[in-house]
Amino acid sequence: KYFPVKRDILQKLTRKEQKVVKAVDDVNFKVYKGETLALVGESGCGKSTTGRSLLRLIEPTEGNVFFEGKDIVAYSKQELKNIKKDMQIVFQDPFASLHPRMTVEEIIAEPLSIHKVGSREERRTKVEYLMEKVGLSPQMKKRYPHEFSGGQRQRIGIAKALALNPKFIICDEPVSALDVSVQAQVINLFKELQKQFSLTYLFISHDLSVVKHVSDRVGVMYLGKIVEIANTADLFSRPAHPYTQALLSAKPVIDEKNRIERIVLDGELPTPLNPPSGCHFHTRCPFKMEKCMHVEPTVKDLGTNHQVACHLH
Ligand code: SF4
Ligand code: MG
Repeated sequence: KYFPVKRDILQKLTRKEQKVVKAVDDVNFKVYKGETLALVGESGCGKSTTGRSLLRLIEPTEGNVFFEGKDIVAYSKQELKNIKKDMQIVFQDPFASLHPRMTVEEIIAEPLSIHKVGSREERRTKVEYLMEKVGLSPQMKKRYPHEFSGGQRQRIGIAKALALNPKFIICDEPVSALDVSVQAQVINLFKELQKQFSLTYLFISHDLSVVKHVSDRVGVMYLGKIVEIANTADLFSRPAHPYTQALLSAKPVIDEKNRIERIVLDGELPTPLNPPSGCHFHTRCPFKMEKCMHVEPTVKDLGTNHQVACHLH
């Protein structure tokens, strides 16, 4: 369970008030070595909070995060620093996450300096190697971020994330700020790098067409909870949760034969500060029953690696 507000503010709240500021609640999932698990959902559903909590950029107030079998929530600052070589994050906005007055070389080498990896000369070689790997000419290493396009800046961000040879990368909406034409190139780069460096990804996105191309499995989030999780092909062909069905039915498809009947959701996305009782989705669900308003659905296993939290199942 995670609270996205500062602890000192929280402590002034009563227990009941604390309850209503849960950004993410009872979220439980595994990411297997070498795979890409996507987390998808509307903005404010808790995807980024979940991703950041794994790296403890946001401190979870309850729960565990196991990395290679060890609970890193219990780690000290120093232990955490060591584990961060293995776990990296690529942010949505390459414009905001790169220091404007640092050269590309300095930006990519920064994690190496912080972790005191290699000599100056070795770092320089590594930067050139990484620039090549992400499709940037090492000749541009003395340039500043503003001299690059959006897609190139995201490549710089990826090179920086790769500098310490991580095993696991959280990609938080890494192509959302890019032009559609550039998105595909960057997605392909993520895939190539995954193969080459045996990377594992948690890929956070609100965009189902991106998720479809990049992920092995998908978790769908709604108001701080994972409502469905399945293999990508399964989720797209047999969505089990009404919210997933609505998301998919809103997505334009080229192949009209496979279009799912359009499900229009009632009302607005409720505020995560005060989610509805029972099933959080009941205020918008076209299939809601009496029970949905009072009883929170538990996670049911539909087999084939497919889980859903809905009373219809
Ligand atoms: Fe809809 Fe009820 Fe299922 Fe929630 S539990 S998604 S309200 S049918
Ligand atoms: Mg986000």
